[in-house]
Amino acid sequence: MLFVRLVRILEEALFPSKCMGCGSFFHSPGDAAKRDYSSAEAYELDTMTFEKVMAPFLCTDCLCNFLPVESPLCSVCGFVFNSREGDDHVCGNCIEHPKRFGKARALGIYDKTLMEVIHSFKYKEKLQLARPLEELLFSVFARNWNMDDFDLVVPVPLHVKRIRKRGFNQAYYLVRGWPEIAGKFKAGNFDIRQDALYRTAWTEPQTGLGRKKRMENIRGAFSVSDEFKVTGKRVLLVDDVYTTGATVNECAKAILGGGAVSVDVLTLARAV
Ligand SMILES: [Zn+2]
Ligand SMILES: [Zn+2]
Repeated sequence: MLFVRLVRILEEALFPSKCMGCGSFFHSPGDAAKRDYSSAEAYELDTMTFEKVMAPFLCTDCLCNFLPVESPLCSVCGFVFNSREGDDHVCGNCIEHPKRFGKARALGIYDKTLMEVIHSFKYKEKLQLARPLEELLFSVFARNWNMDDFDLVVPVPLHVKRIRKRGFNQAYYLVRGWPEIAGKFKAGNFDIRQDALYRTAWTEPQTGLGRKKRMENIRGAFSVSDEFKVTGKRVLLVDDVYTTGATVNECAKAILGGGAVSVDVLTLARAV
């Protein structure tokens, strides 16, 4: 339809998209870049890259400023080493303070673009970012683990007070659609349970606290639920950001205490 196309072109010229990273106006690649979820192609791992998935939402500068998590990194906590050469190995921190979880992996470095995107999603309620972020997080999962090795995916819970304030748990919104995506890969037979773990204590935001303070702040803040048992389960714990690892480590402790077989950690971003 020529008319529809003309209207689109005019619309695009008059109302360019607002970048969800830096807030500047940009000309979105439009419908061509929108992912067609009815096609199998949308679920090929090599099409699930940050540049491709985020193109309708971010300006070119923000797309370029995304920093992926790449080897060499700590084989346990996923810390990205400064040196860009050599193999993955266990970092000093993990040797000194052994972690409760098996391994932690993330999509990108918590800086620049990814930091802005997560802020837009979490604090400005740009919920249209949920689907692309969910898809990107899933692609990191599929690249780093065998999907069939998990029984349960658990988002890091928020305290009820914070849920009431924000209206949603961002970690849950990063995995909500996973069963559908996993179905496209014909793999994975896991449950997603928001109620497997809950926050027993109200904790002040961890932002601005050092490693030691974060550990003290969060100690004993999580419990496994009585209604939904984690006993015998292989668990993937999901959160938006891995900062010092204090939160996910505390969650892993509670989940393993509840009888889970293993806990691994997946986050969108990794602070360095
Ligand atoms: Zn931008
Ligand atoms: Zn480490």
